[in-house]
Amino acid sequence: MVKIVFDIAKRLLTYHSKPFNSYLKNMRVKIVPALEDNYMYLLVDETTNEAAAVDPVEPDKIIKAAADEGVKLTTVLTTHHHWDHAGGNEDIIAKVKGLTVYGGDTRIAGVTTPLAHDFCFKIGSLSVRSLFTPCHTSGHICYFVESNEEPAAVFTGDTLFLAGCGKFFEGTPSEMYHALVNILSKLPSNTKVYCGHEYSVSNLKYAKFAEPDNPSVQNKLQWAMKQRMENLPTIPSTIGEELEYNPFMRVNDPVVQRRCHTSDGIKTMGFLRNEKDNFKPKV
Ligand SMILES: [Zn+2]
Repeated sequence: MVKIVFDIAKRLLTYHSKPFNSYLKNMRVKIVPALEDNYMYLLVDETTNEAAAVDPVEPDKIIKAAADEGVKLTTVLTTHHHWDHAGGNEDIIAKVKGLTVYGGDTRIAGVTTPLAHDFCFKIGSLSVRSLFTPCHTSGHICYFVESNEEPAAVFTGDTLFLAGCGKFFEGTPSEMYHALVNILSKLPSNTKVYCGHEYSVSNLKYAKFAEPDNPSVQNKLQWAMKQRMENLPTIPSTIGEELEYNPFMRVNDPVVQRRCHTSDGIKTMGFLRNEKDNFKPKV
Protein backbone atom coordinates (compact mmCIF):
# COMPACT_ATOMS: atom_id res chain seq x y z
CA MET A 1 0.00 0.00 0.00
CA VAL A 2 2.77 2.41 0.98
CA LYS A 3 4.57 1.57 -2.23
CA ILE A 4 1.44 2.22 -4.32
CA VAL A 5 0.94 5.61 -2.68
CA PHE A 6 4.61 6.39 -3.21
CA ASP A 7 4.44 5.41 -6.88
CA ILE A 8 1.36 7.57 -7.46
CA ALA A 9 2.97 10.52 -5.66
CA LYS A 10 6.13 10.05 -7.69
CA ARG A 11 4.14 10.03 -10.94
CA LEU A 12 2.31 13.19 -9.96
CA LEU A 13 5.52 14.96 -9.04
CA THR A 14 7.73 13.97 -11.93
CA TYR A 15 7.69 14.33 -15.69
CA HIS A 16 9.26 11.83 -18.07
CA SER A 17 10.89 14.91 -19.64
CA LYS A 18 11.42 18.47 -18.55
CA PRO A 19 8.94 20.91 -20.15
CA PHE A 20 10.66 22.77 -22.95
CA ASN A 21 10.11 25.86 -25.10
CA SER A 22 10.87 25.77 -28.81
CA TYR A 23 10.90 29.10 -30.66
CA LEU A 24 10.04 29.60 -34.33
CA LYS A 25 9.54 33.14 -35.66
CA ASN A 26 6.12 34.35 -34.47
CA MET A 27 5.22 30.86 -33.35
CA ARG A 28 6.10 29.33 -30.01
CA VAL A 29 5.72 25.64 -29.23
CA LYS A 30 5.80 24.53 -25.63
CA ILE A 31 6.47 20.83 -25.24
CA VAL A 32 4.38 19.47 -22.37
CA PRO A 33 5.15 15.86 -21.36
CA ALA A 34 2.19 13.67 -20.38
CA LEU A 35 1.57 10.13 -19.08
CA GLU A 36 4.55 7.75 -19.42
CA ASP A 37 5.96 8.95 -22.74
CA ASN A 38 3.35 11.11 -24.52
CA TYR A 39 3.89 14.66 -25.66
CA MET A 40 1.21 17.33 -25.64
CA TYR A 41 2.01 20.68 -27.20
CA LEU A 42 0.94 24.23 -26.59
CA LEU A 43 1.09 26.04 -29.92
CA VAL A 44 1.17 29.82 -29.45
CA ASP A 45 0.69 32.56 -32.00
CA GLU A 46 2.91 35.31 -30.64
CA THR A 47 1.11 37.97 -32.70
CA THR A 48 -2.28 37.53 -30.98
CA ASN A 49 -1.36 35.36 -27.95
CA GLU A 50 -3.93 32.78 -29.08
CA ALA A 51 -2.98 29.18 -28.40
CA ALA A 52 -3.92 25.65 -29.41
CA ALA A 53 -3.46 22.47 -27.42
CA VAL A 54 -2.31 19.46 -29.41
CA ASP A 55 -3.62 16.15 -27.98
CA PRO A 56 -4.28 17.48 -24.45
CA VAL A 57 -4.69 14.13 -22.69
CA GLU A 58 -3.87 15.78 -19.36
CA PRO A 59 -5.91 19.01 -19.58
CA ASP A 60 -4.79 20.48 -16.25
CA LYS A 61 -1.15 20.48 -17.33
CA ILE A 62 -1.99 22.21 -20.62
CA ILE A 63 -4.29 24.74 -18.93
CA LYS A 64 -1.48 25.53 -16.47
CA ALA A 65 1.04 25.82 -19.32
CA ALA A 66 -1.28 28.30 -21.09
CA ALA A 67 -1.67 30.32 -17.86
CA ASP A 68 2.10 30.30 -17.27
CA GLU A 69 2.68 31.55 -20.82
CA GLY A 70 -0.05 34.19 -20.46
CA VAL A 71 -1.92 33.02 -23.57
CA LYS A 72 -5.57 32.35 -24.41
CA LEU A 73 -6.43 28.76 -25.22
CA THR A 74 -8.90 28.78 -28.12
CA THR A 75 -8.33 25.54 -29.98
CA VAL A 76 -7.73 21.81 -29.61
CA LEU A 77 -5.97 19.89 -32.37
CA THR A 78 -6.58 16.14 -32.04
CA THR A 79 -4.40 13.81 -34.09
CA HIS A 80 -6.33 10.57 -33.54
CA HIS A 81 -8.87 8.80 -31.35
CA HIS A 82 -6.56 6.75 -29.09
CA TRP A 83 -7.22 7.57 -25.44
CA ASP A 84 -3.67 8.75 -24.77
CA HIS A 85 -4.22 11.52 -27.33
CA ALA A 86 -7.97 12.28 -27.37
CA GLY A 87 -8.82 11.08 -23.85
CA GLY A 88 -8.70 14.57 -22.32
CA ASN A 89 -11.04 16.25 -24.79
CA GLU A 90 -14.24 16.07 -22.77
CA ASP A 91 -12.48 17.34 -19.65
CA ILE A 92 -10.78 20.28 -21.37
CA ILE A 93 -14.04 21.29 -23.08
CA ALA A 94 -15.71 21.35 -19.66
CA LYS A 95 -12.91 23.42 -18.15
CA VAL A 96 -12.26 25.91 -20.97
CA LYS A 97 -15.37 27.44 -22.54
CA GLY A 98 -15.73 28.12 -26.26
CA LEU A 99 -12.96 25.87 -27.56
CA THR A 100 -12.89 24.94 -31.22
CA VAL A 101 -11.98 21.25 -31.41
CA TYR A 102 -10.55 19.74 -34.60
CA GLY A 103 -10.26 16.05 -35.45
CA GLY A 104 -10.68 13.62 -38.32
CA ASP A 105 -12.52 10.72 -36.68
CA THR A 106 -16.06 10.30 -35.32
CA ARG A 107 -14.56 8.37 -32.37
CA ILE A 108 -12.94 11.59 -31.07
CA ALA A 109 -15.05 13.27 -28.36
CA GLY A 110 -16.08 16.90 -28.63
CA VAL A 111 -15.07 17.66 -32.23
CA THR A 112 -16.69 20.93 -33.34
CA THR A 113 -15.02 21.00 -36.75
CA PRO A 114 -14.50 17.62 -38.47
CA LEU A 115 -11.56 17.53 -40.85
CA ALA A 116 -10.55 15.65 -43.97
CA HIS A 117 -7.41 16.20 -46.09
CA ASP A 118 -6.19 19.69 -46.88
CA PHE A 119 -8.53 21.82 -44.79
CA CYS A 120 -7.05 25.21 -43.93
CA PHE A 121 -7.83 27.30 -40.87
CA LYS A 122 -6.22 29.90 -38.62
CA ILE A 123 -5.02 30.06 -35.05
CA GLY A 124 -4.49 33.79 -34.66
CA SER A 125 -2.10 34.67 -37.48
CA LEU A 126 -0.85 31.08 -37.90
CA SER A 127 -2.11 29.08 -40.89
CA VAL A 128 -2.90 25.43 -40.24
CA ARG A 129 -3.46 22.75 -42.88
CA SER A 130 -4.83 19.28 -42.12
CA LEU A 131 -2.98 16.33 -43.62
CA PHE A 132 -5.06 13.15 -43.68
CA THR A 133 -2.65 10.30 -42.89
CA PRO A 134 -4.68 7.14 -42.14
CA CYS A 135 -2.91 3.89 -41.15
CA HIS A 136 -2.06 3.93 -37.44
CA THR A 137 -5.78 4.76 -37.15
CA SER A 138 -8.21 5.22 -40.03
CA GLY A 139 -8.94 8.86 -39.10
CA HIS A 140 -5.45 10.15 -38.28
CA ILE A 141 -4.71 13.81 -39.02
CA CYS A 142 -1.34 15.59 -38.97
CA TYR A 143 -1.33 19.38 -38.63
CA PHE A 144 1.03 21.52 -40.72
CA VAL A 145 1.45 25.02 -39.32
CA GLU A 146 3.00 27.98 -41.09
CA SER A 147 3.90 31.33 -39.58
CA ASN A 148 4.09 34.32 -41.94
CA GLU A 149 5.38 32.94 -45.24
CA GLU A 150 7.81 30.54 -43.53
CA PRO A 151 7.00 26.83 -43.37
CA ALA A 152 7.33 25.95 -39.77
CA ALA A 153 6.00 22.92 -37.93
CA VAL A 154 4.10 19.68 -38.32
CA PHE A 155 2.37 17.83 -35.49
CA THR A 156 2.47 14.20 -36.50
CA GLY A 157 0.74 12.34 -33.64
CA ASP A 158 1.40 8.62 -34.01
CA THR A 159 2.03 8.67 -37.78
CA LEU A 160 5.63 9.90 -37.90
CA PHE A 161 7.94 9.59 -34.89
CA LEU A 162 11.54 10.66 -34.61
CA ALA A 163 13.26 7.79 -36.49
CA GLY A 164 10.08 5.71 -36.62
CA CYS A 165 6.39 5.52 -37.43
CA GLY A 166 3.21 4.35 -35.70
CA LYS A 167 1.98 0.77 -35.76
CA PHE A 168 -0.42 -0.08 -38.57
CA PHE A 169 -3.44 -0.75 -36.33
CA GLU A 170 -6.09 0.27 -38.86
CA GLY A 171 -4.19 0.50 -42.13
CA THR A 172 -1.80 -1.00 -44.64
CA PRO A 173 1.83 -0.53 -45.71
CA SER A 174 0.51 1.25 -48.78
CA GLU A 175 -1.30 3.83 -46.63
CA MET A 176 1.76 4.48 -44.43
CA TYR A 177 3.85 4.77 -47.60
CA HIS A 178 1.42 7.39 -48.88
CA ALA A 179 1.48 9.28 -45.56
CA LEU A 180 5.27 9.29 -45.13
CA VAL A 181 6.52 9.42 -48.73
CA ASN A 182 3.84 11.30 -50.64
CA ILE A 183 2.68 13.70 -47.92
CA LEU A 184 5.13 14.27 -45.03
CA SER A 185 8.36 13.87 -47.05
CA LYS A 186 7.07 16.56 -49.42
CA LEU A 187 6.94 19.22 -46.72
CA PRO A 188 9.82 21.71 -46.73
CA SER A 189 12.90 20.02 -45.27
CA ASN A 190 13.28 22.62 -42.50
CA THR A 191 9.77 21.87 -41.16
CA LYS A 192 10.04 21.01 -37.46
CA VAL A 193 8.50 17.67 -36.54
CA TYR A 194 6.59 17.39 -33.24
CA CYS A 195 5.46 13.82 -32.69
CA GLY A 196 3.19 12.15 -30.14
CA HIS A 197 5.65 10.07 -28.10
CA GLU A 198 9.21 10.02 -26.79
CA TYR A 199 10.24 6.81 -28.56
CA SER A 200 13.41 8.17 -30.15
CA VAL A 201 16.10 6.02 -28.50
CA SER A 202 14.33 2.72 -29.15
CA ASN A 203 13.44 3.81 -32.69
CA LEU A 204 17.06 4.74 -33.39
CA LYS A 205 18.26 1.40 -32.03
CA TYR A 206 16.08 -0.28 -34.62
CA ALA A 207 17.22 2.22 -37.29
CA LYS A 208 20.81 1.22 -36.49
CA PHE A 209 19.88 -2.43 -36.99
CA ALA A 210 18.07 -1.60 -40.27
CA GLU A 211 20.92 0.60 -41.58
CA PRO A 212 24.13 -0.28 -39.72
CA ASP A 213 26.28 1.79 -42.07
CA ASN A 214 24.26 5.02 -41.92
CA PRO A 215 26.32 7.58 -39.95
CA SER A 216 23.28 9.86 -39.45
CA VAL A 217 21.62 7.08 -37.45
CA GLN A 218 24.67 6.58 -35.23
CA ASN A 219 25.06 10.31 -34.58
CA LYS A 220 21.39 10.86 -33.77
CA LEU A 221 21.31 7.82 -31.47
CA GLN A 222 24.28 9.07 -29.48
CA TRP A 223 22.71 12.53 -29.23
CA ALA A 224 19.28 11.15 -28.25
CA MET A 225 20.76 8.94 -25.51
CA LYS A 226 22.55 11.94 -24.06
CA GLN A 227 19.37 14.03 -24.13
CA ARG A 228 17.42 11.30 -22.35
CA MET A 229 20.15 10.87 -19.70
CA GLU A 230 19.40 14.49 -18.79
CA ASN A 231 15.61 14.00 -19.05
CA LEU A 232 15.50 16.37 -22.02
CA PRO A 233 13.12 15.78 -24.95
CA THR A 234 14.55 14.73 -28.31
CA ILE A 235 11.73 16.65 -30.02
CA PRO A 236 11.59 18.41 -32.44
CA SER A 237 13.47 17.00 -35.38
CA THR A 238 12.99 18.21 -38.96
CA ILE A 239 11.64 16.56 -42.10
CA GLY A 240 15.12 16.85 -43.62
CA GLU A 241 16.67 15.01 -40.66
CA GLU A 242 14.02 12.28 -40.77
CA LEU A 243 14.86 11.68 -44.42
CA GLU A 244 18.46 11.01 -43.35
CA TYR A 245 17.96 8.52 -40.51
CA ASN A 246 14.35 7.30 -40.35
CA PRO A 247 14.18 3.95 -42.19
CA PHE A 248 10.43 4.33 -42.71
CA MET A 249 11.04 7.62 -44.55
CA ARG A 250 13.83 5.94 -46.56
CA VAL A 251 11.87 3.04 -48.08
CA ASN A 252 12.85 4.08 -51.61
CA ASP A 253 16.57 4.01 -50.78
CA PRO A 254 18.17 1.08 -52.67
CA VAL A 255 20.33 0.10 -49.67
CA VAL A 256 17.30 -0.08 -47.38
CA GLN A 257 15.31 -1.98 -50.01
CA ARG A 258 18.07 -4.51 -50.64
CA ARG A 259 18.06 -5.63 -47.02
CA CYS A 260 14.28 -6.08 -47.29
CA HIS A 261 14.76 -8.31 -50.38
CA THR A 262 12.71 -6.05 -52.65
CA SER A 263 12.98 -3.02 -54.90
CA ASP A 264 9.45 -1.87 -54.05
CA GLY A 265 8.91 0.96 -51.55
CA ILE A 266 5.56 -0.29 -50.24
CA LYS A 267 6.88 -3.83 -49.71
CA THR A 268 9.89 -2.31 -47.94
CA MET A 269 7.49 -0.38 -45.66
CA GLY A 270 5.65 -3.61 -44.77
CA PHE A 271 8.90 -5.50 -44.16
CA LEU A 272 10.33 -2.81 -41.87
CA ARG A 273 7.13 -2.46 -39.83
CA ASN A 274 6.86 -6.21 -39.31
CA GLU A 275 10.53 -6.43 -38.37
CA LYS A 276 10.31 -3.48 -35.97
CA ASP A 277 7.20 -4.97 -34.30
CA ASN A 278 9.32 -8.01 -33.38
CA PHE A 279 12.59 -6.17 -32.70
CA LYS A 280 14.23 -6.51 -29.30
CA PRO A 281 17.27 -4.23 -28.99
CA LYS A 282 20.29 -5.67 -27.13
CA VAL A 283 20.03 -3.03 -24.36
ZN1 LIG B 1 -2.04 5.99 -31.20
